[in-house]
Amino acid sequence: MAQAPLVIDGNEILPGTNVKFELPVAKLYTDSDVSLPIHVFRSKKPGPTIFISAAIHGDELNGIEIIRRVISNPKFKVLCGTLIAVPIVNVYGVVNQSRYMPDRRDLNRSFPGSAKGSLASRVANKFLTEIVSKCDYGIDLHTGAIHRSNLPQIRANLKDEETNHLAQLFGVPVVLNADILEGSLREAASHTKTKVLLYEAGEALRFDEFSIRAGVKGVKNILRHFGMLRKNKQKNPSCAVANSSKWYRANASGIFNTKVKLGDKVEKGDVLAEIGSPYGNVINKVIAEKNGIIIGQQNIPLVQEGEAMFHIAFFSEEDDDIVEHIENVQEQLLPELSGGLDQ
Ligand SMILES: [Zn+2]
Repeated sequence: MAQAPLVIDGNEILPGTNVKFELPVAKLYTDSDVSLPIHVFRSKKPGPTIFISAAIHGDELNGIEIIRRVISNPKFKVLCGTLIAVPIVNVYGVVNQSRYMPDRRDLNRSFPGSAKGSLASRVANKFLTEIVSKCDYGIDLHTGAIHRSNLPQIRANLKDEETNHLAQLFGVPVVLNADILEGSLREAASHTKTKVLLYEAGEALRFDEFSIRAGVKGVKNILRHFGMLRKNKQKNPSCAVANSSKWYRANASGIFNTKVKLGDKVEKGDVLAEIGSPYGNVINKVIAEKNGIIIGQQNIPLVQEGEAMFHIAFFSEEDDDIVEHIENVQEQLLPELSGGLDQ
């Protein structure tokens, strides 16, 4: 059996070829052309078609580096099926170092979009019809918002058995069942029967080495699972699947001191942060309402009432086991920070 034909934007990509090309989107008003860089790796041997995408939010840069590290090795070869790498989806946002499109829309709320719609709607529609709809699976790489960091985590529809299995195979510390947001890529992909994992790690506009390495390893784990890369002997650490999660918000405006960090265990009643006035007095404390693990937090120490400060995930397993598991993953991926290299 041969690979089914693959045509992207009128270009037929033949089995056994690696092709780099530009998918044109709307020009800038300066008359400069704008296009999405696409890299397709296609084996002669049949197998699934998978996309990996990054920077749908233009200020989320870790994913660009994750894709670069996966495909830049000259020895990188896909052994079956097809890999479509799209390192910069919101190319306008990356140029402006902004999460949004120039029309101030969120590209990840503009799916499925339309060829005649707003700028965001057109880009969403082109990415959906030319790339996503042609794939069986996809991995979409994100980071926290500006001034917010996420512990490496996969968000996916865990009610779907295969997606759940893939989410766990990715091998990052935490897996969360995430509701599908209206207008998101995941919502549109559910209609094209493309199973999508969403990877969230690190902070906008920054590289975070742990998040990048965990992402590279995760992408490779998924490709290995489908036989698209050679299997390795390394055993993946098991991951922890959260039952639910919650953002804790500030009840006062001020300057805050954080008492916890990403990956920490917190118990009901623990103080997560103290919010103070610029004159020194504590005006409010953010308190954990139940036991859980910090999977996201605000980094800038200035907060306004109502702002989301800590994202805490809740598990049925013992929280101590999860903290140990997170530390193990960290040690495995960043031995230089855990003293592994100087021993
Ligand atoms: Zn994002």
